[in-house]
Amino acid sequence: MGSEAERCNIRPLSLRQACAEVKAPMIGAYLHIPFCAYKCHYCDFATSTRTEEFGKRYCQILEREIKDRLSEAADKPHISTVFYGGGTPGLLDIEYLNQIHGTLLKNIVLLTDYEISLETNPETVTREKAKIWREIGINRLSIGIQSFNDSELTALGRGHSSTDAIKAIEIASDVGFDNINCDLMYGLPGQNLTSWQNSINSFIKLANKYPQIKHVSAYGLELSPAAPLIKMIPLGSNAYPSEEVFEEQLKYLVTALEQAGFMQYEISNFAKSGYECRHNLNYWKQGEYHAFGVSAHRYIKPYRSSNWRSLGRYLDDCLTNETCELIDQDLARTEAVMLGLRMNDGLNLKLFKQSYGEDLLDTHKEIIEKLIAHNLLAHTADRLKLTILGQPVANTIIGEFLQ
Ligand code: SF4
Repeated sequence: MGSEAERCNIRPLSLRQACAEVKAPMIGAYLHIPFCAYKCHYCDFATSTRTEEFGKRYCQILEREIKDRLSEAADKPHISTVFYGGGTPGLLDIEYLNQIHGTLLKNIVLLTDYEISLETNPETVTREKAKIWREIGINRLSIGIQSFNDSELTALGRGHSSTDAIKAIEIASDVGFDNINCDLMYGLPGQNLTSWQNSINSFIKLANKYPQIKHVSAYGLELSPAAPLIKMIPLGSNAYPSEEVFEEQLKYLVTALEQAGFMQYEISNFAKSGYECRHNLNYWKQGEYHAFGVSAHRYIKPYRSSNWRSLGRYLDDCLTNETCELIDQDLARTEAVMLGLRMNDGLNLKLFKQSYGEDLLDTHKEIIEKLIAHNLLAHTADRLKLTILGQPVANTIIGEFLQ
């Protein structure tokens, strides 16, 4: 029996053949793979643990959706970033992933300076799989580590340990990934400031050993009413860190990561210089993107639309949108405020005025002065930025600009 690469008929050259040197606006492509090995207690994403039952059919339908949606355009779209998100795309049988990726490449023009990310969890990273991910052109691996404390991982319902996370980084680095992202989480039940500091310190030790780690996404736990964790540990329980501890956790995160060379460029994202996630930057800068798969959202101006969130509906009818919304000037303005204030570069007031005809320093003078006086907001070089004190209350501050 041949290797997995032979069995799947992997041809690395096909990627190079699909690439082109074209100066075009940045457009991304998102592909949603909804399968997970288990359901984490905090998650309300559109995921399914029935990979065996639905995996093959899902991938066939996804390929059909890619072909049909992209064939509607007069020309193949020029794509510079591709993101396999989920779910756990790393769980997918390599044969299916290769087929989907091949179909995508046939229907787009991939720009030479591409970024192709794949999300996975530590326990799915095997040497053989990781090698094939590299061979088919994935050049950024995003690993859901969440915590280096095993009891916190158990409380979240994660199916891996901190040892699995370290092993996954070692394998990914060994097979040639030189742009690895680690996901971390704070504000967890049972987590205090010291255990969070220990997790961050373990991460920094690992990042020093493996300079291939270039990026960190660190999210404060936010639970939707549908998250199973709420039933297990109700909101308001003492098990969750207090607001003060949550703020201290964020401060420690920002300071420790910056000292380790990971600069914050968005509230929840940190990168070594030049390794900011280009796919996400495109979202935050209100750029266009195609999207395929159950519950996937696309933005091809002027419409944002989404596929069916129900796996069954999507499998029956992958080309009908569940939602479709015209992004008019009002909505674009709202999003520019929300996204701009989350970025460390801040909201560009001059550009905002050019785009929406509104001088925020005029229309929101009072609130801006109040926020600056409380050291929650800073106004420098024609930009408005959240301070470190403003970041934990970002949603409240943003809300002030939406009125
Ligand atoms: S692995 Fe990720 S997508 Fe899957 S259930 Fe857990 S949090 Fe949700």
